[in-house]
Amino acid sequence: MKDTYGREINYLRLSITDLCNLRCQYCMPSNGIQKIAHAAILTLEELDEIALAFARLGITKVRITGGEPLARKGIITLIEKISRHESITDLALTTNGTLLNTMAQDLKNAGLKRVNISVDSLDDKKYNMMTRGGKLKEVLKGIEKAKEVGLTPIKLNVVLIGGFNDNEIESFVSLTQDEAIDVRFIELMPIGEVAKWSQSNFLPNDYVLETVPTLVKMEKVDPSSPALYYQLPGAKGRVGLISPVSCKFCHTCNRVRLTSEGKLKHCLHSNEEFDLKEVLRQGNSITDFIQYVMLQKPLEHTIEEGSFIARNMIQVGG
Ligand code: SAM
Ligand code: SF4
Repeated sequence: MKDTYGREINYLRLSITDLCNLRCQYCMPSNGIQKIAHAAILTLEELDEIALAFARLGITKVRITGGEPLARKGIITLIEKISRHESITDLALTTNGTLLNTMAQDLKNAGLKRVNISVDSLDDKKYNMMTRGGKLKEVLKGIEKAKEVGLTPIKLNVVLIGGFNDNEIESFVSLTQDEAIDVRFIELMPIGEVAKWSQSNFLPNDYVLETVPTLVKMEKVDPSSPALYYQLPGAKGRVGLISPVSCKFCHTCNRVRLTSEGKLKHCLHSNEEFDLKEVLRQGNSITDFIQYVMLQKPLEHTIEEGSFIARNMIQVGG
């Protein structure tokens, strides 16, 4: 499936809930978000039907996200269903990792290939503060369990936040020395009600390279990956830099997003949304609708001009 600019769209990010057991400061406003009625959320069957339609249109990679996807009832069943679609060769999930210790084995058995785990500090107190209540110990246990059951390769997502974790860059990078994991620094994006906060705490990813000058740039293997990879000499793992703000990668964008309410988003940073759930529930062709939406995909985002989306990240899924 191609868009108007000839980009091959083969990656679907499926948000299955906008609820979360954490409340990260850059993702969710302090007063929370408006609760959505249960009936407005796509059912497991609908999510699977949509995944199948996308698979038939050439989507080969599906990432389950949220809110916190492991907090959604029926997640294991959903993974089982989606993993049966043979053309989806890469079925992954992004999680805060807090529930992974108890769920990793079932996820693996259900057909999940790998997990990305978000962790922005290696200090208990700081982690607890940024997530408004999270316990780092649970995440670390989750990471170990994911390794043990083979939900690999594991990627750790670290949102770089000025004055918060900029003094932990070396500690994060050193995790890649003896283990085959990827640590990926993600630039803080100005999104939703907390956009101003994100702008005032923004630090460009170049800061990582200034802090650890021994990092060596690697050749890009996957042209559609938003990350540029680096490595410490002799390291087993890699350090990724995802820089949507300082160095946008729209020209290689291969993705489409679906919110848990069934709104199709052709671009993370666009307010334009298309109601796929409505089309599905009315019994119309979702295949035609998806193809139509892909042709509306913009060439690039314009966050550098100050146009931020109204939705909060927790309602989109990253
Ligand atoms: N709850 C899961 C988690 O935290 O991994 C999945 C959903 S979360 C919205 C997906 C990813 O978006 C996480 O890696 C999170 O750190 C990232 N994220 C959230 N808000 C962000 C922001 N304003 N800028 C950059 N990344 C953000
Ligand atoms: Fe929840 Fe993930 Fe957002 Fe944190 S980043 S509030 S864990 S959805």
